[in-house]
This record gives sequence, C-alpha cells and structure tokens, in this order.
Amino acid sequence: MLQTETLHAGSYIGGEEIKYNHRNLKVLNPYNQEVIGKISPALVDDVEKAILNADKVFHETMKHMPAYERSEILRKTADLLEKRAQKFAEMLSLEAGKPIQESRGEVTRAVQVLRFASEGAKSIYGEQISLDSAIGGENQMGVTKRIPLGVIAAITPFNFPLNLVLHKVAPAIATGNTVVLKPAEKTPFSSVLLYQLLEEAGLPKGALNILMGPGQELVEPLVTHPKVRKVTFTGSGKVGWMIKEMAPRKRVTLELGSNAPNIIFADADVEQATQAIAMGGYTFAGQACVSAQRVYVERSIHDAFVKRLVTELQKLKTGNPLDEGTSFGPMITEDAAIRAESWINEAVGQGAKVAIGGKRDGAVVEPTVITDVDPDMKVVCAEVFAPIVSILPFETEEEVIASANDSEFGLHAGVFTKDIYRAFRVADAIDTGGVWINEVSVRRYDHIPYGGVKNSGIGKEGIKYAIDDMTAIKFIGINLKS
Ligand code: NAD
Repeated sequence: MLQTETLHAGSYIGGEEIKYNHRNLKVLNPYNQEVIGKISPALVDDVEKAILNADKVFHETMKHMPAYERSEILRKTADLLEKRAQKFAEMLSLEAGKPIQESRGEVTRAVQVLRFASEGAKSIYGEQISLDSAIGGENQMGVTKRIPLGVIAAITPFNFPLNLVLHKVAPAIATGNTVVLKPAEKTPFSSVLLYQLLEEAGLPKGALNILMGPGQELVEPLVTHPKVRKVTFTGSGKVGWMIKEMAPRKRVTLELGSNAPNIIFADADVEQATQAIAMGGYTFAGQACVSAQRVYVERSIHDAFVKRLVTELQKLKTGNPLDEGTSFGPMITEDAAIRAESWINEAVGQGAKVAIGGKRDGAVVEPTVITDVDPDMKVVCAEVFAPIVSILPFETEEEVIASANDSEFGLHAGVFTKDIYRAFRVADAIDTGGVWINEVSVRRYDHIPYGGVKNSGIGKEGIKYAIDDMTAIKFIGINLKS
C-alpha cells in the first residue's frame, strides 16, 4: 500500500524539482476528504524557465535523437509501468477517487499508449512527389519529411490523470518534441510517478517539464509564449475555448466535454444494451467526457428498459475506491457532487422523475436515472459529468436522429440495433466525432481517432493522429539537372 505522508510534489524544470516551502496546496482524497499530500504550485516566472529549458533540450537533444532511441525510451517506460501497475493504480484511486478495478484499467491502457507510441516513433513517413506533374517540373523531384515542432504545452484534467497525460506526452516523445505539462492540480501525483518512470527509462532531463498548480495563473503565460509551438488541452469547454482565444495563431488541439447520446431501438439486444449503459453512464461516477448521458429508448421498450437498468444499478457497490469490492465511488470533490445534486433537484422541480438514486452523501452521488425529462433541462442539454443518466422515449428513427443532434456537443454516440442498414444510416446521420454500433459511447481504445465536433473540440488524438498533429510537413525539392 502507498505511503502518503510524504507526498509533496513540486514542479520539474530541466530535470530539477522546484519546491517553495511557504507555498503549498493540499491534495485531498475525494472519498473521505483526508489530506493525502501537497503540491508546491509553480510561480509565474517558472513558466518561462520551463519553456526555455524545453526549447534548449529540443534543439540540443530531442530533435536529433534517432527514432529507434525515442521508441526504446517509450518501450522501456511501458515495461516499467506494467511492472509497477499496482502502485500506479493505487495512486489513481487515492488522488482521483477512482475504484481500484477501474484504476487498473487506466494503467493497462496507459501501458498500451506507450507501446503504440513506441511503434509510432518508427513509423513516421513522408512522401515522394512527382514534380513533373507541373509544367517546368521535369528533372526535379520533391520529398516531404515530417519534422517535430518544438515545445508543446500540454494541459490535462483530473479524470484520467495518467492516461490523458500520456495521450499528449507519449506522441510528443515519439515525434522528438519536448513538453511543458500542466497537470490537474487535484490529481498531480500520478504525473510525478510517470515523470520518474520516463527518467528511469532514459528520457533526457528537461524533455518533459511539469508545472504544478491551478491553471488560472500558469496557463496564459504558457500558451501564449512564442517558443511554444503547439498547445494540446483536455478539459472543460470553458477553459478550452478561452485557451483557443489566447493563442489564435498556434496549433491548438481541444478535447472537451459532451452529453453523449445513446440510442436503443426496440430490435436491439436489450440485455446487452442495458449492461452497456449501466457501465457507460456510471463508470468513474459518470466523470468521463463520453459518458452515456442522454439515452433515447424506443417507446415500446422504454418502461421495461428503465426497470432493467434500475435492477442493474442496484448491483453497484459504493465504497472506498481502494477496496477491491468497490464498483462505484465519489465524484472528484464535494462541490462537484453538490452541483450534480442541484441539477437533479432542478429537473425534479421542473417535472422529471427519479427512477433510482438522486441523493448525495459527501462527494458520493448515487447512481441516478431520471425519466420524464425535457430537452432543455440541464441534466439533458448541458454536460452533466456525474452519475446521472436521463432516459427519453422516441417513436421514429428520424425523430431520434434530430434529438441526438440537438446538442451543442458532438464527441461520441452509441446506437443499439440488430438492423445493419439502420445502424449505418444512424451512425452516418449523427453529428459526432465517433459513433459506436451496439456499444456504448464511453468505449475508447487509445489508437482510434478521438476528438469531437461542435463545442466538443478541435483536432484528434489517438497515437497516429496525435503524431500527425505534433509534426510539421516539410517539403524538400531537388533539381536533378546540372
Ligand atoms: P478543467 O477545464 O476544469 O481543467 C482542465 C485543466 O485546465 C486543469 O489542468 C486545470 O488546472 C486547468 N484550468 C482550470 N481552470 C482554469 C482557468 N480558469 N484558466 C486556466 N486553466 C484552468 O476540467 P476538469 O474539471 O479537470 O475535467 C473535466 C472536463 O474535462 C469535462 O468537461 C470533460 O468532459 C473534459 N474531458 C474531455 C476529454 C476528451 O478527451 N474530450 C477527456 C477527459 C475530460
């Protein structure tokens, strides 16, 4: 078991840990609000120091490092992470309040991200271009190379503190860039453990720099600095779009929130669909950007589906995230839980009914199903980011497509039907970055192109896509005639 009394993390700049003993921020266990450690937030001046260090290491080391070495560092890190999976999983459960089984799942995915990136480092290709397609291009040829950009600013949220950091750091290393990372201040320690693994695996000092602390003071100087060539952000729309405005001339990737629609037709395997929603709406207390939030159920099976889902949710076991038997845990803070509870109460005040759950105890909000909702209730139209699923009946395919698309968001969706023609028709018609057929919206593998449309963001992650995004295409033309 982890010893937590000594957890005190500073920022990491150029391989050195920077701590200010008079400047500390407590980190709480979301389950019982106990202090698990503290961070020493970076000063605004540290932002520039971290960027200049990252820039120096980029020019002196990383951009010259051969692909096989970058690949090897990532492979070694994957092996080390696999060996220390239990320690990492415990840290995730402790700092994020994630049930230990789910934390193990996050670590397993993180190992795969590192392995995909290790392979990706060796598969960065350009092309040869026939210049004689243009008049005058005879006796000349052109090639393209994919080259690293330089310093990448990465800003990450609390909900997958290891894997979402790796979605940025692993492809950045694979491509020979350097990184200044600002992890979520509520879940800082898994980043420190990862930093230590990367260092042990041979990542040059200063290739990854970490700025600890809340974003309010640190993010603007980070994303606007002229030496930062790309910004990659995962988090809320409020912060994401603000960053885009701060850095209008930079490459910016935004992985933001959603209120994922999932559609269940009467001909679906309803048992399988129920299990999928029971998982996809409530994993990590619904705190995933692709959590099932709006579940549209064909009217003829609506009541039966609600009953089945309620029965399924009664099996969840709430408890300490570190206990093996716990399948459902707290939200990240009591404030977040109070906000979720107030949205439930507001919906009920507007005529909605609670089929199960609806109550809060500290930071734990019961797994909740709401029926009789209207599309303009917050629990439906805003991002709920809590263990709350709204069930909405529908009559026709046309109507449900319109309802699913009636959202400012567009990240992932799910559609459940045995009719293959309809499955593809609906998948085509839904305006989201990704659609699952006979699977819930929350499903994600780390090599798939992942990213939303509309207010859910800009750009794609998934190793191959992040590698494209973290490299520039450079054209080199050659005159073959003396
Ligand atoms: P958040 O936006 O509050 O925080 C994300 C990061 O931004 C953190 O590092 C935080 O310190 C920083 N930040 C917060 N407020 C800031 C401010 N005013 N100025 C500058 N920086 C600031 O998000 P969160 O609560 O940590 O995470 C939840 C959100 O993330 C949800 O909206 C969820 O949908 C989204 N998310 C999206 C994806 C995706 O891949 N699309 C994945 C996970 C989470």
